Amino acid sequence: MLSAMLAMAARIDAILPQTQCGKCGYSGCMPYAEAIASGEADINKCPPGGEEGIRELAALLGVEFKPFDEGVVLQPPSVAFIDENLCIGCTLCLQACPVDAISGASKQMHTIIAPLCTGCELCIAPCPVDCISMLPLPPTARSEQSARDKKHAAAKATRERYQFRLERIERDKRDKAEKLAKKEQAATQSAAAPNTDAQSLIQAALERAKAQAAAVKPQNIERLTPAQQAQIAEIEARRAKAHELTRPGVTPPEE
Ligand code: SF4
Ligand code: SF4
Ligand code: SF4
Repeated sequence: MLSAMLAMAARIDAILPQTQCGKCGYSGCMPYAEAIASGEADINKCPPGGEEGIRELAALLGVEFKPFDEGVVLQPPSVAFIDENLCIGCTLCLQACPVDAISGASKQMHTIIAPLCTGCELCIAPCPVDCISMLPLPPTARSEQSARDKKHAAAKATRERYQFRLERIERDKRDKAEKLAKKEQAATQSAAAPNTDAQSLIQAALERAKAQAAAVKPQNIERLTPAQQAQIAEIEARRAKAHELTRPGVTPPEE
């Protein structure tokens, strides 16, 4: 049941213009297609699709054509234009464009790539200096645009650009997360490094202390008896041997 609904949504989406403008009241063409497929939305809410789009949807779904919904505002096809003298290079329009139809970089002038612009108007509201306006397309371009197969080809190309953008945003997010993880790992390793240094310093100090202790000779033994001196000599010999065996690289003899 769900898969049949999704299959129908995909067929409806293939008819929709893919501008992702949200003028249907949904967040993009696919959400609107899913709403139509599930019976939640009517077929007459997409202004960029025109009446021709409603007819195609009606034919696909086997329902009667109906005029645009009362709330729909119809506008002539248009393209965005940036007044480059006013642009401050904030990149907000670039981030809002769903089909990457704006070129520019931070603190640099931005420009609309007119052949890619679908006229969705999503870049207008974010511009802090109101330097983007919509220009109507010339009539020749308008009549060309109304040709059905040309329109479908444009929708297909727009869908691909939209998908590419979504994938790029996901890839950027992944790259950022990986970089952050690497940074955190490097920070953890460098925090651990001083401990290793401290351990080797402690080890070296212990070695030095052992060596010094080994070098100290018993004092004032002249007044001891020969037996006591022999006992001390034996202890010293044992200590020297023990020190020799604890030196790094010396393997203790097997018992
Ligand atoms: S193009 Fe049509 S279906 Fe797509 S978001 Fe705009 S109004 Fe909705
Ligand atoms: S440039 Fe503006 S109007 Fe054109 S597609 Fe991008 S967001 Fe939409
Ligand atoms: S939002 Fe306006 S000011 Fe900012 S980069 Fe785009 S056109 Fe320029």
